[in-house]
Amino acid sequence: MDKRQFLKTSGALLASGIFSPLLTGDEREAPRTNWSGNYTYHAGRLDSPKTVEEVRQIVKRSSKLKALGARHSFNSIADTTGDQISLKNLDQIVLDTKSRTVTVGAGVKYGQLAPYIDSRGFALHNLASLPHVSVVGACATATHGSGSKNGNLSTAVTGMEMVTAEGEVVVLSEEKDGDRFRGMVVGLGGLGVVTKITLKLLPAFRMRQDVYENLSFDQLEKHLDEIFASGYSVSLFTDWQNHRATQVWIKSRVDPGVRSEIKPEFFGAKAATQNLHPLAGHSAENCTEQMGVPGPWYERLPHFRMNFTPSSGHELQSEYFVPRENGYQAILAVERLREHVTPHLFISELRTIDADDLWMSTCYKRSSMTIHFTWKPEWPQVKQVLPLIEEQLAPFGARPHWAKLFTMAPSRLKSRYERLADFQGLLAQYDPHGKLRNDFLNTNIYGRQI
Ligand SMILES: Cc1cc2nc3c(=O)[nH]c(=O)nc-3n(C[C@H](O)[C@H](O)[C@H](O)COP(=O)(O)OP(=O)(O)OC[C@H]3O[C@@H](n4cnc5c(N)ncnc54)[C@H](O)[C@@H]3O)c2cc1C
Repeated sequence: MDKRQFLKTSGALLASGIFSPLLTGDEREAPRTNWSGNYTYHAGRLDSPKTVEEVRQIVKRSSKLKALGARHSFNSIADTTGDQISLKNLDQIVLDTKSRTVTVGAGVKYGQLAPYIDSRGFALHNLASLPHVSVVGACATATHGSGSKNGNLSTAVTGMEMVTAEGEVVVLSEEKDGDRFRGMVVGLGGLGVVTKITLKLLPAFRMRQDVYENLSFDQLEKHLDEIFASGYSVSLFTDWQNHRATQVWIKSRVDPGVRSEIKPEFFGAKAATQNLHPLAGHSAENCTEQMGVPGPWYERLPHFRMNFTPSSGHELQSEYFVPRENGYQAILAVERLREHVTPHLFISELRTIDADDLWMSTCYKRSSMTIHFTWKPEWPQVKQVLPLIEEQLAPFGARPHWAKLFTMAPSRLKSRYERLADFQGLLAQYDPHGKLRNDFLNTNIYGRQI
């Protein structure tokens, strides 16, 4: 990331409206930022083609280019010194009930896709904490939800249509391309401009969400796996004070017609008596329904509702993935830094994700626990804390979330990805002249600046 630029903009800009239209190539005066407002894009123009053919023409005529999704990344991953291209107009959704897959244009967000497939009897296996991100942008960065048996969102991808840096349309699939495909799904925006993506589906299901307050970390020492397996998707929130999780959110599948009461206690934590926001003092109006009320999967898996601002709005985020078996030790390691962390923190979240075999996935071959930080917009201070956290988590081989803020040295990052050299090979094959390379890839994948 261009840190000088980041410092200049962090904390200075109000969060931009998530539904504000992206600017066209003709509207270049106003600086464009990511969703949080902490990062201002350097890209000169933003084109919004309406067809794949237009995408091809734009890619061909560009010398430097980057695809932009819903702008929810916190770092420079979606930026370029050239032009950006938004696929927001490619918003078609094609359901194949026979193969139980759905193919969506690269402009489609989970918030649009989920009700559509639910109304036709289908579901995705998981969702992130918010539905506002694009399917393609999320899958390109290994975005995840929670659930010890749920892989991240990228694990649902079975096919992609992509315009390569040379302007050629390629169609890729798990079935046809095997291991190479597994290298391309978490493509970090570097392999081409994805125009369509195909996801595998489950039959639609219903869920309930139960929230508990004050779970002692002592319970995690012996029961971490049990606690995280107590629902389909489980999240713990903490401010790192008082050796406890402030809230536990348990999202469970429910069978139609079966109603059960909320259990008053969960490993010593007490059932909440009303809907809660993970951040103390914030209205729960923005949050999905709790208190055990059953509802469709897509209205329980995310924490935040589609038509409301997710999380805090004006914030920074970082997240680290550690092997689940080291989860408790990793929690203790971060807890030791609480006096550094808490003053700059809105809230932390702990989640689990199943292992996968996608080369650049943060869960590659590792059943993981994540330690997430929603920071106040105080980059100068947060920038000082991140190396401390990364040092504490080094013994566990922590991998940072690709789309969030981290300070880890490229050499350390490299040691965490055994297929990195193979991924570089794919980048060279699909983008031989570095049209899609940006500072983020140069630093974190190539370990250098050009
Ligand atoms: C409030 C908030 C909550 C969040 N919650 C979670 C969470 O629960 N779990 C989690 O894992 N993450 C979470 N994130 C992070 C978020 O999921 C990632 O930043 C995700 O990448 C955002 O997707 P996007 O559509 O905004 O993509 P962008 O940020 O716009 O782009 C991300 C990457 O995808 C690439 N890309 C986008 N479109 C294309 C395309 N058509 N072709 C090729 N490459 C493309 C871009 O080039 C870039 O490299 C959260 C972020 C915010 C702001």
